[in-house]
Amino acid sequence: MLNPGQQHRSFIVRSKWLLPITCRPLENAWLRVERGLVTGFGVWPPRTVNNIEVIDQGNAIITPGFVNAHTHLEFSSCQKPFATKGGLHEWIHEVVSWKREQHSPSTDAHEKITAAVVSGSRESAACGVVALGEIATNDIAYNEISGRLRLRVFREVLGLDPSSIKSLPPRVASSFRDSQQLSRAGIAVGLSPHAPYSTQWHIGQAAVNAAKNSLGSCKRIRRGDNCLTPLAMHLAESKFEEEFLHKQTGPFRKLFHDLGIWPAHAPALASTADWISLLAKSNRGLIVHGTFLVDNPQAMARIKRHRHTLALVICPRTTRALSGKLPPLAEFKKSGARVCLGTDGRGSNPDLSIRAEAACLIDSGLATPQEALLMITSNGAWALGFEHRTGSIATGRPADFVILKPSVSPSTADKATTAIFDATTAVVSTFRGGHPIAGHFA
Ligand SMILES: [Zn+2]
Repeated sequence: MLNPGQQHRSFIVRSKWLLPITCRPLENAWLRVERGLVTGFGVWPPRTVNNIEVIDQGNAIITPGFVNAHTHLEFSSCQKPFATKGGLHEWIHEVVSWKREQHSPSTDAHEKITAAVVSGSRESAACGVVALGEIATNDIAYNEISGRLRLRVFREVLGLDPSSIKSLPPRVASSFRDSQQLSRAGIAVGLSPHAPYSTQWHIGQAAVNAAKNSLGSCKRIRRGDNCLTPLAMHLAESKFEEEFLHKQTGPFRKLFHDLGIWPAHAPALASTADWISLLAKSNRGLIVHGTFLVDNPQAMARIKRHRHTLALVICPRTTRALSGKLPPLAEFKKSGARVCLGTDGRGSNPDLSIRAEAACLIDSGLATPQEALLMITSNGAWALGFEHRTGSIATGRPADFVILKPSVSPSTADKATTAIFDATTAVVSTFRGGHPIAGHFA
């Protein structure tokens, strides 16, 4: 048995199916791992075995490790989601009240959030996930969990109080500093203007400038794809969002009044289409949710125009819970931008299973199992700027993969792909860079 944290070992794993993504599925396959890297794979038998240990996983399916492109791990201690039936604005009210309670002087919020993040990272790895796009609202020590998962930590910024690009709110300025600190600790970072209804335009512009500056300094010291500073933003998540952006009225205005954060002067907000163009200015922009974007032709046209720098991150179960419908995947596919999946946090979702998100799309007929597999592997890796490290199995790349045990042995490649998303299929173990980060591997 190999446990997390042990030294690299060399081995060949044999399985009924191997789905590398980089090429067609292989039946009766082998995969060789040495010094944390994939050094070969093919149809059994390998030409040379030498003295490398061979581990036969029987009727297992091996795929690239999964990528969950959008999470909020700080909610991982929630036993069940906050009430969603009142829609996004009512849900936010509950979340903010919960967070205020968490930060009351009598509680150690930092310790609680760290414990939740650690628990969420363990749950993710057990679900076959090797890489996460995490939205961070605190300066917690993400380096404590970065040994387990590949992390892209998007530091969140937002604010409605009067300010300008030259005098940012202190919380925003300190968020930029937190992000730089994480980057210096070797963690891949990004920035996340929260949403158009909660973030003034100049804060978004400052985030783009910060992303570009970090890219500039990064290029000088050559730090590989840690150099990317993608931006992620929740867009068009509520049907009331457009009304608020245009007139500053409706349920969002009431929400901010009720929370006591509506400013004395009208905040400087921007349209959804303008935010899309701003996201596209960073080297990679992630549009999260986008449930109601299809009602906005101008916004859809901008996505199409910037399809090579934008990714659409959908969270099907959260969207269904908050808005009563599934993401507009057919229209998103037509836009030409890559689509990937996120679980969102346990504040709106019962668990962190990225396979369950994909199964939700497959069961509703919105995606084929083959499309869903791309969404939770190579597309997710691209969205997070990790396309050279994870999301596919290729010689010379880090050995990031997951071993799955189906309840019935699949007789064809299509059946193997379908079985990945079957609830009766179990995750046996998850590997990052040749190390098991969850499960058992005998
Ligand atoms: Zn979110």
